[in-house]
Amino acid sequence: MVFVDARLTLPRVPGKSFNKRDPGEIVGFVVHQGAGEGTIKDYAEYHTSTKNHITPGDPRPGLCYTFGIERDGTIVWANDVNVRTSSQKGNSPVPGKYGNTHFMGIVVAGDFKAGEYAGGAKPNPAPAQVTALIVLIWHLSGYRQCRDMPYGLFGCVPSANYYDVWGHSHFGKRTCPGDFLARVVGIMRAERPSHHEQLNTARDWQLRLKMKGYDPGPIDGIWGSKSRAALSSFQAVRGLATTGMRDAATKAALLGD
Ligand SMILES: [Zn+2]
Repeated sequence: MVFVDARLTLPRVPGKSFNKRDPGEIVGFVVHQGAGEGTIKDYAEYHTSTKNHITPGDPRPGLCYTFGIERDGTIVWANDVNVRTSSQKGNSPVPGKYGNTHFMGIVVAGDFKAGEYAGGAKPNPAPAQVTALIVLIWHLSGYRQCRDMPYGLFGCVPSANYYDVWGHSHFGKRTCPGDFLARVVGIMRAERPSHHEQLNTARDWQLRLKMKGYDPGPIDGIWGSKSRAALSSFQAVRGLATTGMRDAATKAALLGD
């Protein structure tokens, strides 16, 4: 397994930068396939050209994913964790759940569209790529020592967890990441609901409030006055007692939406 920090070496557009975000707001990962065959550098060149399909005529600042996985399984770190690349937009895969903006994009190099979409058989991802994808997501989220490290170190995301991995198809792009990777994603998601969907921690509640349009302050897991005020506002709208407390009735209301 090779891990390359290419944040300073991949093609970029001078003077342009992606929007920033609080890494604490990230709840998981979205898996993509490449737009056609190529290397991660090829994709970066395409995104930073006027020919890119995301904003035609307007070059993107850099590769529109946080990580890429080459055909040989090399993991390429392309953007800082606190950068919301152009792939991170759009609505939630499930009504009431987090939108794509709360996820980190990972692109697997290759064109894996299923035959039914592409009109012909396409190659599946290489075994090394699938292995690298699983290890990367595990590294970024599921490994406790990684979660305890500071933001940004090897791309660690303390708030994310292993089960919050989706395919781009869940966000409306039907052909991405292709049937094979969609099955891999399905296996990784398993049957267990993610931590934040159970609202176990103060951070989970903050994220949920933020997603619903309330401002709980920094997503830091500290239940301070801003978080209490945000929850009180939600409770008021829902006709609940405005206590700012994380009680069972409020939890049900927050999760039920
Ligand atoms: Zn995609």
